[in-house]
Amino acid sequence: MPVRQWDPASKAKVVLEGLQGKPETAICKRHDIRPAEYRRWRKQFLAEIARSFASPRRPSAKRSPVLSGIARAADESSEALRVAQELIEVLPVPVFFKGRDGKHLGANRAWEAYFGVERESFIGKTVQELFPHAPEVAAKHQAVDEDLWRNPGTRSYELQVPVHDGRFHHTLNYKATFTGPDGEVAGLIGTIVDITERKRAEQRQAIEHRVTRLLSESETVAAAMPGVLAAFCESLGWACGTRWSMDAKAGGFRCEEAWSIDDPEIAAFLAASHERTYQPGQAGLVRRVLGTGQPVWIVDVTAEESFLRGKQAAKAGLRSAFALPIRLGDQVLGALEFFHREERLPDEWLLKTGVEIGSQVGHFMARKQAERELRESEARFRSLTALSSDWYWEQDEQFRLTFMSSRFVERTGIDPAPYLGRKRWDRPAPNLTEADWERHRAQLERREPFFDFEMERASPHGDSIWLSLSGEPVFDEERRFRGYRGVGTDITERKRAQGVLRAAYDELARSNAELQQFAYVASHDLQEPLRMIGSYTQLLERRYADKLDRDAREFMGFIVDGATRMKQLIEDLLAYSRVGTRGKELRPVQAQAVLDKALANLRASLEQSAATVTHDPLPEVSADDTQLAQLLQNLIANAIKFRKKDEAPRIHVGAEDAGDEWRFSVADNGIGIEPQYFDRIFMVFQRLHTQDEYPGTGIGLAICRKVAERHRGRIWVESAYGKGSTFRFTLPKIQEGET
Ligand code: ADP
Repeated sequence: MPVRQWDPASKAKVVLEGLQGKPETAICKRHDIRPAEYRRWRKQFLAEIARSFASPRRPSAKRSPVLSGIARAADESSEALRVAQELIEVLPVPVFFKGRDGKHLGANRAWEAYFGVERESFIGKTVQELFPHAPEVAAKHQAVDEDLWRNPGTRSYELQVPVHDGRFHHTLNYKATFTGPDGEVAGLIGTIVDITERKRAEQRQAIEHRVTRLLSESETVAAAMPGVLAAFCESLGWACGTRWSMDAKAGGFRCEEAWSIDDPEIAAFLAASHERTYQPGQAGLVRRVLGTGQPVWIVDVTAEESFLRGKQAAKAGLRSAFALPIRLGDQVLGALEFFHREERLPDEWLLKTGVEIGSQVGHFMARKQAERELRESEARFRSLTALSSDWYWEQDEQFRLTFMSSRFVERTGIDPAPYLGRKRWDRPAPNLTEADWERHRAQLERREPFFDFEMERASPHGDSIWLSLSGEPVFDEERRFRGYRGVGTDITERKRAQGVLRAAYDELARSNAELQQFAYVASHDLQEPLRMIGSYTQLLERRYADKLDRDAREFMGFIVDGATRMKQLIEDLLAYSRVGTRGKELRPVQAQAVLDKALANLRASLEQSAATVTHDPLPEVSADDTQLAQLLQNLIANAIKFRKKDEAPRIHVGAEDAGDEWRFSVADNGIGIEPQYFDRIFMVFQRLHTQDEYPGTGIGLAICRKVAERHRGRIWVESAYGKGSTFRFTLPKIQEGET
């Protein structure tokens, strides 16, 4: 391996690495040189530089030397020094020199660029003169310098200094002393490394870490916020911070939480902030953030008119401020606000860091909101299940029961254990056939919801319990079928009541049929003995009339009369019972034809009474034509029978459209009916007059009512006593397709 040749420039470069803080061992290892050699180079380098101060040369016309203030062109200037100077001049790191009196001797181009000043403007100046606006910076530098004068060597330290862009940068400063020809410390050489990027990344990470931990450990936003604000302020040197959020009750944005350094004036400023409610707007700080959804930076709040708390801020010694939105997607949930004691120019990085925290807080708020909603919905569900008499169940994708709420056992007394893990059809339900189950299973396989699925189960008391189940399929986020869930109801009572009702109905239908049959048979069978009574009394009269006295003949007359009337009664009763038992199917019929038939049957009495009958145009109706004729005939016959002595009957048959039914009427000018009898006259054998006045059996209207009811209609009477009566009845209209 060839031994490397070290020229003066290369040696100077190596030495500068050391001046920038790289450890000696690392330098030696990298360049493969011995520590002793490195130390010798460094001594030489610093001695060369020191010599240049000790034996000043005239300034070079060709170039701007690094040590412009004192460097002189000199023939005897060593080649090493020239190289070192040139090298330092073009080095990309800022380098400067300072004399023992604390005054700057020179600097390179990188230094000029870094601070944004010409070297001429600071040569000969002390650090206090260079940083009049940042006394703490000057103080720190001076302290290190003094330490170096006392204990020569090297030092390194971090400091934030305002640089070319007017902003404070994080810098790592290295300084090393050099000695003059007399062996005394003559000054120092320094370099600066800008570590802003690294520093900020570290700070940001630290802040975010702290905020994340705070948020994850806190129950509420309010509990987390002071810590979150502190994390930001403490790490970055800001004095105080607040959070603003919507207060629905106050109808605006309010300052919710705050953090500040320990200072009564700032505390007073924050107290003033708490008193206000802000509406989103286009001016101010918080108002503008809420109004625009964008961060806002104010370099000096005490000079900003639209900043409403300016006076209090000035009193608290606050200067710069910025605020940013707490966002969740497009929604602005609130704002964060920070204040600094000194003027600070808008800083992209700071804003970004703040926005990042804002979005962390936004997510936290959203998560808390979602948790609250979930809790509420669970509470609602709990109340629902606790207060409802129904129970809740779940089953898996194999249709096995996986959950049954406690209400089930409370309601039914059935232990759910034997049903859990089983399918519905694994346990017997006496009301369901295999085909019923098959249909139910098919429905579940199709993932359909089902409603009121009724099931009979054995109860622990030996009787049975009726359940009604409704359920719906459950799918996960990927639309995969996960089973069913639903509710169940105990319908045992309803089932029992239904059973009782059905039994009563069946019994009623049976006894009705029996009664009709009885009435028919009775009236039919009664006719025979009655005929016998009639014919034998007539026979008696014929054969033995002359042998009987007057009384006996009169009695005989009563018997014949009674038998005749009884015959009439029985016939009427028979006709009445036939309405139910012998009716024809309802068919569309022309009411006009039916009326004509009824009038033809009544021709004799119509003529005899000189009655006039008029009628409206009559519709087609759905009816048993024989029964409808009987109905009309009975009503018209009554109109003739119950006429006034001195007036010929005038009868009108009407028909009007009453929605889904026809309303018929038979009106007369007869004797009329008193209102208290309006209902009674429709009952069997109920009449208002004696046989002598008006003959009859009292069954005509009862038949009319039965006919009307068989036609799903009603019948009633309207009358003014002494003036006439109007009987009305309805018939349903013909349904479509019923022709
Ligand atoms: P009947 O005519 O055999 O008496 P109905 O059942 O036909 O039996 O009539 C019952 C009663 O209603 C009659 O007795 C009569 O008092 C009263 N009535 C029926 N139609 C009329 C009418 N058009 N005008 C006055 N009263 C009537």
